[in-house]
Amino acid sequence: MSALSNGDPKVYDILKKEENRQAYGIELIPSENYASEAVMEATGSIFTNKYSEGYPGKRYYGGQEYVDMVERLAIERAKELFGVEHVNVQPYSGSPANTAVYFGLLEYGDTIMGLKLDHGGHITHGLPISFSGKSFNCVGYEVEKETGLINMDAVRELAIQHKPKLIIAGYTAYPRKIEWAKFREIADEVGAILMADIAHIAGLIAGGAHESPAPYCDVITTTTHKTLRGPRGAMIMCKEKYAKQIDRAVFPGLQGGPHDNTTAAKAVAFGEALRPEFKEYAAQIVKNAKALAERLIENGFNLVSGGTDNHLILADLTNKGIPGKVAQEALDEAGITLNKNTVPFDPRSPFDPSGIRMGTPAVTTRGMKEPEMVKIADWITSALENHENLDQLHKIHDEIKKLCKNFPVPGIKI
Ligand SMILES: *Cc1c(COP(=O)(O)O)cnc(C)c1O
Repeated sequence: MSALSNGDPKVYDILKKEENRQAYGIELIPSENYASEAVMEATGSIFTNKYSEGYPGKRYYGGQEYVDMVERLAIERAKELFGVEHVNVQPYSGSPANTAVYFGLLEYGDTIMGLKLDHGGHITHGLPISFSGKSFNCVGYEVEKETGLINMDAVRELAIQHKPKLIIAGYTAYPRKIEWAKFREIADEVGAILMADIAHIAGLIAGGAHESPAPYCDVITTTTHKTLRGPRGAMIMCKEKYAKQIDRAVFPGLQGGPHDNTTAAKAVAFGEALRPEFKEYAAQIVKNAKALAERLIENGFNLVSGGTDNHLILADLTNKGIPGKVAQEALDEAGITLNKNTVPFDPRSPFDPSGIRMGTPAVTTRGMKEPEMVKIADWITSALENHENLDQLHKIHDEIKKLCKNFPVPGIKI
């Protein structure tokens, strides 16, 4: 990076500090991952120079020969990866992708139904202060208090009562599998469009570790940067009959020029996800999450739903007597990055919730396996027991640094 270090030493210096943080810390935020060097090269490529409003073969500016090629390649690979009829790879990120679906398929004021934010849903699924909540009549379903699971009979009752035009399945903080077939039955019964938002689990689906929603859903949105391990971005997949509405909603409905450098990087990431190694990766994410969960339970942690089927774990720290925010800050000192999180029926506020959320996509990319998960669970346990003891927290960080040296982050030389 000599151009950056010579041209802008200030930004370069900050970047080097972040590189050090990523290399020597344990990354457990379940929405984060490490993109490959190939994905980053495409993201940082000269495709960033181009403008290409419109779609392949139907652009508004000249010079589109190669942009069209790379966008078509991304679309073809996404179709193969997820077995879908139509793909739009232009959404800038997950939130704009969801917004485009609503804009394309609904009228303002229509009823939509998603999982409540504090039960594991996403802000774009109907949080009252979000664009989704302000524009639509949002009905939120919940997880069961006793089990932490989504009760499909309760979802069905709510759907019959409110007759939503759109039902959303797919979450931000739900550690279990999703019953796509049941959601399809309910959507058919009330005449709703069924949307899957697989932002978190796209990599698990692409790698065959989780069932695909493609046979059941009308529309599927996903980010490309979480378990799918691509560049920061998103895409919308849908049945052919919704293709025109979706494409028009993305452009010119909501966005201007697509980020062609990101499109190129999406093509690279989809290519990587089509390789056999990605199946192993997806399976290992789940094995690692189960190993981490098991050890945390042995160490006295109370996990929402009692464990995990996917890449993430939600722990309620009430029995440990430590609020989520205090835990997050202590773990930062110890070199473990995760986020505080509300738990279902949380008596505390979202800024100071009862839980923490953690996940295994990033550590699995580094090549860590079950034995390392046991170590991480024990470090978390020890850090929380010693959350007021800075010396002890820094000692844990020293041990973590030693482990990290054996598990390099793609693109970072240490
Ligand atoms: C992360 C996430 C999104 C939004 O993605 P951004 O790229 O952050 O806008 C949408 N839906 C779900 C379920 C998510 O977890």
